[in-house]
Amino acid sequence: MMAGVPETVGIGSVPVQRLLARNAGPMTGPGTNTYVIGSRRLAVLDPGPRDALHLQAILDLAGGRPVDWIFVTHTHGDHSPGTAPLQAQTGAQVIGLPPPPGSGQDPSFQATRLFHDAERIDCGEFSMRLIHTPGHVSNHLCFLLEQDGLLFTGDHILDGMTPVIAPPDGCMRLYLQALEGLKALPLRALAPAHGQLMHQPLQVIETLLRHRARRESKLLAALAQQSRPLSLQALADQVYDDIAPALLPLACRTLLAHLLKLEAEGRARQSNGLWTGGHDGI
Ligand SMILES: [Zn+2]
Repeated sequence: MMAGVPETVGIGSVPVQRLLARNAGPMTGPGTNTYVIGSRRLAVLDPGPRDALHLQAILDLAGGRPVDWIFVTHTHGDHSPGTAPLQAQTGAQVIGLPPPPGSGQDPSFQATRLFHDAERIDCGEFSMRLIHTPGHVSNHLCFLLEQDGLLFTGDHILDGMTPVIAPPDGCMRLYLQALEGLKALPLRALAPAHGQLMHQPLQVIETLLRHRARRESKLLAALAQQSRPLSLQALADQVYDDIAPALLPLACRTLLAHLLKLEAEGRARQSNGLWTGGHDGI
């Protein structure tokens, strides 16, 4: 993948092109994928960061064809800030959910109206179904290109990395529930916001679920082995003993999401920022 150079990635009757934004980094991998969908009237999915060159690359790819819809998976800074300038140039309808409070969010994002889970947007030659997938963030949507079974997964499912689940807006219970829910959809491939298309959707989803279950077991074992309460950091050292130290601060946020899930289930307890297993003394 090369930033600014369109690539054809469609898997069926509807043309889909991918345009990589110029924002590669530790959080974004190769950068944010912007997708351009359709042949006559176009939809743009995740316009990416606010970047005049990326905006121009999107308009060049459109080549004078109308851009009538902008789909936004969520309002993190690497996904939605390019929406407003693209909307101003095209007059497109903006489909997405309002930003929750919190850092890393794009407060400038404004959808055309309120949208709902399972809503279907008719784009003439194709249609997109909205699937609310909270977890990574509360306002996350996946979009199903119904004609081809292609699911645009945003940051809900990534290629080559696991999404960060950062409380308080991120929620592990909702994340796992939303992942499970995707298994019922007629999927043929996953198009993530970062990385390449994935052609075995069920396998990818099962692998992610297993990965989260393994981390949870490791966490439960660490809690069970301890005779005294442990800090998040001390737990992270045990549960994430297999990752690069530089990734630990991020892993800590997802670990906290696991702990809050276990706390809600009565399997972990917190006192003054220190954690114990849930069943001691009961
Ligand atoms: Zn994100």
